[in-house]
Amino acid sequence: MRRLLLAFSFVALPLATAIALAQGPSQSGLQLDAMDRTADPCNDFYQFACGAWISKNPIPADRATWGRFDELQERNNATLHTILDKAAIGRDPDQKKIGDYYASCMDEPGINKKGTAPLDPLMKKIAGVSSVTDLSPLVAELHTIGVNVFFGFGAQADFKDASVEMAIADQGGMGLPDRDYYLREDPKATEQRKQYVEHVGKMLSLAGSGSSTAADSVMKIETALAKGALDNVSRRDPTKIYHKLTPAELQFLTPQFLWQKYFDGIGAPPIYALNVTEPDFFKAMGQVMASASIDDIKRYLRWQVLHASAPVLPTPFVDENFKFYGTVLTGATELRPRWKRCVQYTDSDLGEELGKAYVKEAFGPQAKADTLKMVHEVESSLEKDIHELSWMTETTKKEALVKLHAVTDKIGYPDRWRDYSALTIVRGDALGNSQRANAFEFHRQLNKIGKPVDKTEWGMTPPTVNAYYNPLENNINFPAGILQTPFYNAKTDRAVNYGGSGAVIGHELTHGFDDQGRQFDARGNLKDWWTPADAKAFTERAQCFVDEYSQFTAIDDVKLNGKLTLGENTADNGGLRISLMAYLATLAAEPSSTIDGFTPEQRVFLGWGQVWCEKRRPEALRLMAQTNPHSPGRYRVNGVVSNMPEFQKAFSCKPDAPMVRPTQCSVW
Ligand SMILES: [Zn+2]
Repeated sequence: MRRLLLAFSFVALPLATAIALAQGPSQSGLQLDAMDRTADPCNDFYQFACGAWISKNPIPADRATWGRFDELQERNNATLHTILDKAAIGRDPDQKKIGDYYASCMDEPGINKKGTAPLDPLMKKIAGVSSVTDLSPLVAELHTIGVNVFFGFGAQADFKDASVEMAIADQGGMGLPDRDYYLREDPKATEQRKQYVEHVGKMLSLAGSGSSTAADSVMKIETALAKGALDNVSRRDPTKIYHKLTPAELQFLTPQFLWQKYFDGIGAPPIYALNVTEPDFFKAMGQVMASASIDDIKRYLRWQVLHASAPVLPTPFVDENFKFYGTVLTGATELRPRWKRCVQYTDSDLGEELGKAYVKEAFGPQAKADTLKMVHEVESSLEKDIHELSWMTETTKKEALVKLHAVTDKIGYPDRWRDYSALTIVRGDALGNSQRANAFEFHRQLNKIGKPVDKTEWGMTPPTVNAYYNPLENNINFPAGILQTPFYNAKTDRAVNYGGSGAVIGHELTHGFDDQGRQFDARGNLKDWWTPADAKAFTERAQCFVDEYSQFTAIDDVKLNGKLTLGENTADNGGLRISLMAYLATLAAEPSSTIDGFTPEQRVFLGWGQVWCEKRRPEALRLMAQTNPHSPGRYRVNGVVSNMPEFQKAFSCKPDAPMVRPTQCSVW
């Protein structure tokens, strides 16, 4: 699915794999055999909550990371696997599309037999390009089928009038994970660039059009695009990625590229204005088009076609793609079994047809009702918290409460399922299916331009182990996939559920009030509703988190980027705090008791700690620290609890214990 430019998720996961582990039996739902009882919770709470799990669970060879999120995603995948195996036999007409898609993806011999022949018509068109003015219709065709050369295009709510969808043109066209991968000067980055160029060369060679100079040409073009692109910390500032221009103004920035021909090529509705996220990027793109030779541009286009198609090309392409993106960038040593990859692609391309079947199997009305109740309790806690804040004036509090009351809650799955009837899936045509699915999604996005925003739509599929807040819609979204053990279990202790799904709810809710989210109002408009004094007080408090997390080491000499992770860290800290408040408020109505040897408060903290039991390979930690707005599990746990007087009290920690920070940060 195309990525939303602005949506704050709970976790950024490379999609799932491997063996699900048995749940350690306990009365509370905590996994007691995951704990390291020799560790002192006041010294290293993460080790206390997860130490035994970490020492007992090697990272599977086909994984870059392995954690309790992955265990859950694995269980969800096993459910999807059963659904798809049945669907592939083709008895249920409602599941014909997912069955045909999955079966075609699984047919490795059939894919190998065709070779790269299915790409021939496209490669011929690229070969036929004779000047830059030929590019617009070709770029339009490539974008339609999911090959994102040069830039990205789609629809998103207008930041300044979030009730209406508008066209958006964003930076893109690069094969490395982030623009800094092209520009960083350290030895590791230099080595990775060398390996990337080798990879590009091999992919082009496999398709019969490679040479070492061809790969260098690609690198030259992508590096020039990277130089014009904005860094990932700046991109967190919505004012830096909102520039409403007319098509004529965009044309002026990029005289080399014929925009109207591009709009015609993609079949866009009339465009009167669009968000050109970063005008400087488009200037740079125009200069690339003007200065690169047409042969170099053709090499770049060929590479991008192969790169986008790799998962459904013959085995040598799949293996080479894995070698770079799996092994070099994340440290995984084995390719995941084909069925796991095909489950993932089906979820990505036909997520709501597959999700409909998943929800029937895995998500009951009880889970939905319980979650909704918890959402309301956590919302009440945040309301109480805002009322009691010492650093915010009444004027801003009033506005904050207006925004909080306007938040809408979406739980489990969409009320109305997506209609895929316009999408043709052909059994035996894996590449074509993928391209048509991309075209279906692209057109679905383009059709929104100029129309009211549909806030009922979902940005994640139902089996996803994740959640998000959408600042342009002011809603919180919890897919059925995350409302499962260890986040939520209807049969076990509620304290543990508050440490799990309660904290996830709190996390998403506070995103509306983090350094990014706070810039949007109750209706999702980018509009400042803060008094200058309150904005200043907020920024000072947020800086405490920036300083705290910047000290944490991800791997070797790579520290976390406190600015990149600020929104997520604020959400983790606020989320657990207000979930604990919500839990304690309900506790008054029932007797508090010790279960499995832990008090109710201790079980909330352990519930939070244990959702983050995880291991990451060094390569994956490096990638994460450089690109991911979330902190690694250890810091999502210790970084948060060490800010909480409630934690110190719950575990009777001494004031100078490592899990009691001398300066405790808090916003919400
Ligand atoms: Zn988040």
